Amino acid sequence: KTFEELGLSKNTLEAIEKKGFTTPSEIQALVIPELLKEKTHLIGQAQTGTGKTAAFGLPIIELLNPNKNVKAIVLTPTRELAVQVSEELYSLKGKKDIRVLAVYGGASIEKQLKSLKKGVDIVVGTPGRVMDMMRKKALKLDELEYFILDEADEMLNMGFIDDIKEILKETNKEKKMLFFSATMPKEIINIAKEFMPSYKKLVV
Ligand code: AMP
Repeated sequence: KTFEELGLSKNTLEAIEKKGFTTPSEIQALVIPELLKEKTHLIGQAQTGTGKTAAFGLPIIELLNPNKNVKAIVLTPTRELAVQVSEELYSLKGKKDIRVLAVYGGASIEKQLKSLKKGVDIVVGTPGRVMDMMRKKALKLDELEYFILDEADEMLNMGFIDDIKEILKETNKEKKMLFFSATMPKEIINIAKEFMPSYKKLVV
């Protein structure tokens, strides 16, 4: 399959071309059409480095109605990954007017708050900093279309489960949740069952 056949728009196809991607990776070929077809909860199992950022990022970029209120949040286990994912999303958005912001600890919260105030559509962040910003009422997650857990197994290993649940409590009901993980321990399936009425599971 080609990216064209997956049903992406001209803008996004141009962004993909600019990045030098020629063929969709396996996880992309599975996830992109699924998310474009239907707004569904989803669990994706794929190793790191297999292109899962673009797998969830491209359809989200396509479907998002940006209005500078946070419509999608990606939680990552580390700040390095938060930066990496936000940069990847930024490079995939093409000409679409979407703002992406990475929020993470160990860097000035003031600067991140200032960027947030200007309006952001997609936040990528580590749980601690996300919670800090929510407590400050600077980050509102009540208009979400998507809630994404990246490297969910790592997040559990690092003890972020309570933080994730805490953050989820402050989000709106209507959002769709996408969990990505290299492995699928029982805990992840359990959280999925707790928060998703039903979900698709895609494995590569
Ligand atoms: P990820 O698994 O999302 O961290 O992606 C790993 C690396 O693969 C990143 O540098 C991506 O830019 C790159 N990548 C993602 N999808 C493709 C693709 N279809 N073709 C070539 N490179 C890709």
